[in-house]
Amino acid sequence: QTGLVWFRRDLRTHDNAALNTALQQCNQVHCVFIFDRAILDSLPRADRRVAFIHASLQELDASLRQLSGKPDGGLIVRYGFATEEIPALAAQLGAQAVYAARDYEPQARARDFQVQTALLAQQARLITLKDHVIFEEREVLTQTGKPYGVFTPYMRAWLAKLGDVPPRAFDEVTPHAPRLAERPPALSTPLPSLGDMGFEPGNLPDLRIPTGMSGAKKLLEDFWERMDQYEETRNFPSVKGPSYLSVHLRFGTVSIRQLVGLALQRRLQGSEGASVWLSELVWRDFYFQVLANFPHVAEHAFKPEYDQIAWESGEHAQQLFQAWCGGRTGYPLVDAAMAQLNQTGYMHNRLRMVAGSFLVKHLGLDWRWGERYFAEQLNDFDLSANNGGWQWVSSSGCDAQPYFRIFNPINQSEKFDAQGKFIKRYLPQLGALDAKSIHAPWLAKPLVLAAAGVTLGTNYPHPIVDHAEARARTLQRYGVVRKTQ
Ligand code: FAD
Repeated sequence: QTGLVWFRRDLRTHDNAALNTALQQCNQVHCVFIFDRAILDSLPRADRRVAFIHASLQELDASLRQLSGKPDGGLIVRYGFATEEIPALAAQLGAQAVYAARDYEPQARARDFQVQTALLAQQARLITLKDHVIFEEREVLTQTGKPYGVFTPYMRAWLAKLGDVPPRAFDEVTPHAPRLAERPPALSTPLPSLGDMGFEPGNLPDLRIPTGMSGAKKLLEDFWERMDQYEETRNFPSVKGPSYLSVHLRFGTVSIRQLVGLALQRRLQGSEGASVWLSELVWRDFYFQVLANFPHVAEHAFKPEYDQIAWESGEHAQQLFQAWCGGRTGYPLVDAAMAQLNQTGYMHNRLRMVAGSFLVKHLGLDWRWGERYFAEQLNDFDLSANNGGWQWVSSSGCDAQPYFRIFNPINQSEKFDAQGKFIKRYLPQLGALDAKSIHAPWLAKPLVLAAAGVTLGTNYPHPIVDHAEARARTLQRYGVVRKTQ
């Protein structure tokens, strides 16, 4: 039979569930990626993620071509609506089965259902396979068969289920690679350029973020040297502590099975850093299962009573929001974090917590506004992890921070960026301030500010809110849910 592999967020040829299964089950296999207008049409024209995908597809195409051993054995790339393109392509190629990695987001599920229905009408089918996670939403359940809403027992059950054996990779595709078919001449047009689709590369090339499978490999090799120190370094944004692999996990240029296998192996050798890093990968699975089991979280608070909270609204709220988005709150760590996000599409995990908490618990703004802004800006935006993170900071989610725990942005700054190194990288106008004054410039003596060339209200804003007042307002705001805690 003829199969069609539909690459979506699994842009690699190694350890790939859909590609491997298709090659085993079919005599002839075609591969396709659709630049789906259902997603692209609403994106800004200079979206770093589109540029990242585009660059990663070039490598995927080359890799498929090499594996197939045929000059035209590469990837078919289309620009259109996946719900139309996939059934049409399957018909054109005479494919009886379309293989894809399973997606857990509500919109993606609806899309896949539509594609499945269309394929069935033409005597073909959509076969989806587990690829993005180690365990899916029904694989790790409580003893009473319910999904977990708290992380620690989930992680315990997850680790017990995994055991000491690294997850099995999908076999090497090489033995079956000759089954990769040549692209029919009518479909062998080269990858459309970003410009052809109305996009610009944005600043991705300047950021030198390594793309594709080779980029993921490079980052992994670098992190492999640092993994043992992960626990000590991961909370300090000026230090190269984390792996920076999130964008690769997002687009599947690296395999989660491979990462878990490597972390497990190192953990079994006694590495505390590997053990903590593995638990971060478990958080990833945790939020995937939350979204799949409780899809209402995509729009609502995990706990319904948190939907009752009255957030700030009106013009003033809009002004506060714009100041937060633009990194003009007057709290240097928050502003530097937002500058990092706006300039690079990445934000350090500690800062996602600090900046997120600031939006909700200092500015009193609806966490969904922040969630939406992160979704637009983050290169690694993933609905499940982003939603989980925002529900955590706003205290409305599963295993969330208790509502009365309100990060003090000044203390966080003193603790995690003591010398202000990170702040200075993103807020050069504060570059000459000393380590004592940089966390809360408005508390510094006028002489100190003058000597450092800082004029509040001119080259750096006054604080947009007072911490103590904001804290009191938040406790009051959360009063509607207090009785449930
Ligand atoms: P590492 O520290 O090297 O971690 C390795 C991997 O583990 C990450 O790449 C990621 O896949 C996973 N991971 C780590 N922490 C978490 C977590 N808390 N939840 C789920 N997975 C985790 N992560 C995203 O991938 N996409 C998002 O859209 C996203 N939005 C977030 C929003 C908020 C408000 C918060 C608090 C966190 C968010 N995170 C998100 C989680 C985390 O901040 C990032 O995964 C991490 O900073 C990515 O950097 P890294 O790859 O260097 O991480």
